[in-house]
Amino acid sequence: MAGIGLDIGSTASKGVLILEDNQQYREILATGWSPREAAAGLVEKLLDNAGINRNDVERIYATGYGRIAISQADKTITEIKCHAKGVSQLLPEVRTIIDIGGQDSKVIRVNQYGQVIDFAMNDKCAAGTGRFLQVTATALGMDVSELALAEDRSQMVSVNSMCTVFAESEIIGLIAGGTSRTGVIAGLHQSVGKRVAAMARRLGVKDKVAFTGGVAINQGVRRVLSEELGCEIIVPEMCQFTGALGAALLAMEM
Ligand code: ADP
Repeated sequence: MAGIGLDIGSTASKGVLILEDNQQYREILATGWSPREAAAGLVEKLLDNAGINRNDVERIYATGYGRIAISQADKTITEIKCHAKGVSQLLPEVRTIIDIGGQDSKVIRVNQYGQVIDFAMNDKCAAGTGRFLQVTATALGMDVSELALAEDRSQMVSVNSMCTVFAESEIIGLIAGGTSRTGVIAGLHQSVGKRVAAMARRLGVKDKVAFTGGVAINQGVRRVLSEELGCEIIVPEMCQFTGALGAALLAMEM
């Protein structure tokens, strides 16, 4: 028996396959224009990696913003529940999860059983999400994966625009005015980290705190969150896969 969890995100689609002996396989693909094709691609790759057939998979559970657009899943589950499940399995000591993805950010409080106690979510505004960093990285002629290593906090300038489109213009203006790119990048990290930390404080932060989602790969944002919240921030090695892992674990539990 095997179970698959798919997290069809705004930017990236993630999949985790778990076999009965708990062996795990994972895959990530750009979601692109078609969540359906991304899901099909993930399932094919996961089956290939595990050397099994579709018939060997008991259940496929899906989460993420594109979950309703796909036909492969036996059931869809909210991202909040899946992230809580995935993180609690990897890090049972965690009580607060901060997830920053491509188009939303969320803070989730969990108990010792991995059950959701409360959560807060920003899915209205791109500021404080991975999209903000992607758009502004492009304005700086960089890929989002290059930002963290390129920041220089000693030259940090504030990026004050609340809106991603205005922030892009602000950055172009700052660079044209002679501000260093490395200082602007530090300002971008500060902007995202502060915004999400404020949401976390409103909900209430309890140790220990985990940081997940694609933006958790960015050490600059991680540092700002740690400073703002005054605590250590744990980033699991599979930080971008915790939603898919949670979905796969729930599929196996059934
Ligand atoms: P979604 O589920 O909405 O697709 P993810 O949790 O997969 O979101 O996160 C996507 C975001 O993660 C991107 O918008 C980008 O900002 C960030 N990201 C992805 N890969 C990297 C990387 N290698 N380094 C830094 N940031 C990254």
